[in-house]
Amino acid sequence: VLVTVASFRDPWEAHMLCSRLEWEGIPASVAHDFHVGNNWPWSTALGGAKVQVPSMFAGDARVVEGQSRDGTYTSELRAQFGDIDDTTCTSYGSSDVRRRRPVGSIIEALLLSTIALVPAFGWTYRCNICGTKWTCY
Ligand SMILES: [Zn+2]
Repeated sequence: VLVTVASFRDPWEAHMLCSRLEWEGIPASVAHDFHVGNNWPWSTALGGAKVQVPSMFAGDARVVEGQSRDGTYTSELRAQFGDIDDTTCTSYGSSDVRRRRPVGSIIEALLLSTIALVPAFGWTYRCNICGTKWTCY
C-alpha cells in the first residue's frame, strides 16, 4: 500500500523530494504530477502532486521530508561547498563583486519597449579584487 508523505502545489517540488528519498534508499513515486502539469488549477482539487512511498517506509520518508524543509540538507551543502547563493569571482572566488545591467541589454529593452514592455535581462559582474568581468543571465 502506498502512503502519501507530502504533497506540493507544483510537480517539480514533489519530484525534488522524490529524488531525495530515492537517494536515501527509500522507493518513492509522484502521483497526480501529470494532471497538475497539464492543468495547474487541478492542483487544488487533487490535493497537489503527491509523493508516495510504500507504507513500511513512511516513517523514514517523513524524517527525510522534515530534514528537507528544516534546512538540514542546505546546511550540509554549505559546509561542503561554502555559501552556494553568493555570487563569487570566477577567477579567485572573492565575493567582493559589483553587479550591473549590460548597456546593450538596457538599450535593447528600451528599443523593444516601443512595441511591448520588455525587461532588460542579463547581468554583468566585475570583481572588485582582481577586475575579472563575466556575464550571467
Ligand atoms: Zn576576482
